[in-house]
Amino acid sequence: MPSDSKPGAAAAAADDSIRAENRPFVPALIVVDMQEDFCPPNGSLAVQDGRTIAPLINDLLAKPGFVTRVATLDWHPANHISFAANHPAPNNKPFVSLIEMKNPAPGKSTETKPQRLWPIHCMADSHGAALIPEIESNRVDLLVHKGQNSQVEMYSAFADAFGNHGLKGAGGSVDVDLAFELRTKAVTDVFVVGLAGDYCVKSTALDAVKAGFRSWLIEDGTKCVVPADWNKTKEELCAAGVVVINANDAVIMRLAAV
Ligand SMILES: [Zn+2]
Repeated sequence: MPSDSKPGAAAAAADDSIRAENRPFVPALIVVDMQEDFCPPNGSLAVQDGRTIAPLINDLLAKPGFVTRVATLDWHPANHISFAANHPAPNNKPFVSLIEMKNPAPGKSTETKPQRLWPIHCMADSHGAALIPEIESNRVDLLVHKGQNSQVEMYSAFADAFGNHGLKGAGGSVDVDLAFELRTKAVTDVFVVGLAGDYCVKSTALDAVKAGFRSWLIEDGTKCVVPADWNKTKEELCAAGVVVINANDAVIMRLAAV
């Protein structure tokens, strides 16, 4: 088994490398989609136990070592492509059906991907799209509203499902260029928590690597749509360079001292 598929070993090695290289360490926290619709008891796309990670996330938000604390919000128009109700029967079953989604970027419509369909969730400005009140939002420095282009899915806070980075006003899906904002603050490392571990948290952590950041996923700070598949998801994350840790990892303990 390659060493990068052992999360514990990878975390230790990554933390050692920070110390050994004495490299710059400028950490940011990204809290993904802690919204009513992703939480029990009333969320339309509730992740089991989603609300229970709020205290751990608040502990992280309170750590002075982070140079910036970002919260992302899934923020869809009513005609969003991911809503099962926007597609004709019989291939419109939430959680089950897959449709073919085209890249909305100019000249790229021949590029397609399968898109899973979901219940209607996180409609812009709705109660379901609100951050849950348990999250201490006064500590959040930057909000990112993602998934605003009706024609394309956006799990990652950095880019849509095809890797497009366009901003909303220019036909894109998001109101903030997150990679640019993090680079402006000289961020080197991003720590990702929130919902759901197997979708938006995963995609955000993967895209952080692509954007050139060292990417850490704090696994006790997330819950999954399909918890049984988490080990497989973790292998995928580790293979792509994301370091999966717990909130009591040495690198988190160092944050207060940064
Ligand atoms: Zn969504």
